[in-house]
Amino acid sequence: MGNNSWEARADEYSLYGFTDLPSVHERGAVVVTHGEGPYVFDTKGRKYLDSNSGLWNMVAGFDHPGLIKAAQDQYARFPGYHAFFGRMSDQTVLLSEKLVEVSPFDRGRVFYTNSGSEANDTMVKILWFLHQAEGKPQKRKILTRQNAYHGVTAVSASMTGKPYNSVFGLPLPGFLHLSCPHYWRNGKPGETEEQFTARMAAELEATIIKEGADTIAGFFAEPVMGAGGVIPPSKGYFQAVAPILKKYGIPFIADEVICGFGRTGNTWGSQTYDFMPDAIISSKNITAGFFPMGAVILGPELADRVQAASEAIEEFPHGFTASGHPVGCAIALKAIDVVMNEGLADNVVRLAPRLEAGLAEIAKNPNIGELRGIGYMWALEAVADRATKTPFASTLSVSERIANTCTDLGLICRPLGQSVVLCPPFILTEGQMDEMFEKLDKALKKVFAEVA
Ligand code: PMP
Repeated sequence: MGNNSWEARADEYSLYGFTDLPSVHERGAVVVTHGEGPYVFDTKGRKYLDSNSGLWNMVAGFDHPGLIKAAQDQYARFPGYHAFFGRMSDQTVLLSEKLVEVSPFDRGRVFYTNSGSEANDTMVKILWFLHQAEGKPQKRKILTRQNAYHGVTAVSASMTGKPYNSVFGLPLPGFLHLSCPHYWRNGKPGETEEQFTARMAAELEATIIKEGADTIAGFFAEPVMGAGGVIPPSKGYFQAVAPILKKYGIPFIADEVICGFGRTGNTWGSQTYDFMPDAIISSKNITAGFFPMGAVILGPELADRVQAASEAIEEFPHGFTASGHPVGCAIALKAIDVVMNEGLADNVVRLAPRLEAGLAEIAKNPNIGELRGIGYMWALEAVADRATKTPFASTLSVSERIANTCTDLGLICRPLGQSVVLCPPFILTEGQMDEMFEKLDKALKKVFAEVA
């Protein structure tokens, strides 16, 4: 790696997020220049099939002409505006209507942010604002789950149930993490999945009773945990927790940042898992990754209550300079159209069984403990011993080695804990899916031969 190389310059001047620094110092950064369909290319001319759709978001691939045109057209028409002081762009109006239309709600209201983290942060502020306006200023605690990922701002990182946030002295007080509903890993010996789910629900109710329902502002959950390692809920989990939340008057917020717009095989993960949240957090796929955007979509009841609270004090004092950016909104309108009407969402439904079958074949490897996922989001968890589910020693960095070996083979996949995550773009062809299987299988066999 020469000193003037792109890799060296990346390494010298950039502060990487979520990056294993020793590994990147040794291997060099991958400096990406352009993309074609589901592939990206780097400064060395290497080509990678990105099985993670960037960061779960580039569902239409890296060069979709319709999305590029939507951006270009809107830039030419009106390149930027805000959504403060009773003003907003026409594109913002159109997108809010569209989002409510495609949401599971018959009515609603939308608030825009630049990211998923800010959307969760905004939702927490909405709940605090609402409860305070309704005379319950002590109703402030936020319930989430261990392993949940809700973002990186101080509030959304506090919601995230990952131990790494302790380096920031987080979580903030009042952010409580319930158990992760991952039956394979957290079920007790002899416990059925139904009993496990009942235990998760009982823990929720006991927590509410212990803390006091009047101190809890809301409960947030990803329909399928994404960055926690692609963890679908245990059987009946949402059917068990939703009535408890309702009984105690605790708003239920679905963080659909990854699941939204088709990834689980329906528009929303909450539809796939058959529950009705009070609000939805959206980001990533909302613009197919072509623009930074997040959105809070309030269902009818919260929309009415928040509107009434805002009217009472004459404003809702919150917003980002680029909230509802017209270019982002124009791209989002196109992205929703592309995903829903140009066959992308259908691809997920049609090819998810093929994806699952291919991965199930690979998961026959004795060092794969669990294959889990749904639709177009999957993880393979590596184990040193399948029968006892014993993980590899963390010093072996197994999932990083697998991901690095995949990179060397021209496949980008993501290490998460001891799992490797695959979350392909919706445009993947069957041939490209086979390429993914082949490279992944090869990498797994190579790494397990080295470490097992
Ligand atoms: N919620 C979920 C479920 C996510 O997966 C993510 C990002 N991976 C976020 C929130 C945060 O989104 P962002 O990175 O855009 O802030």
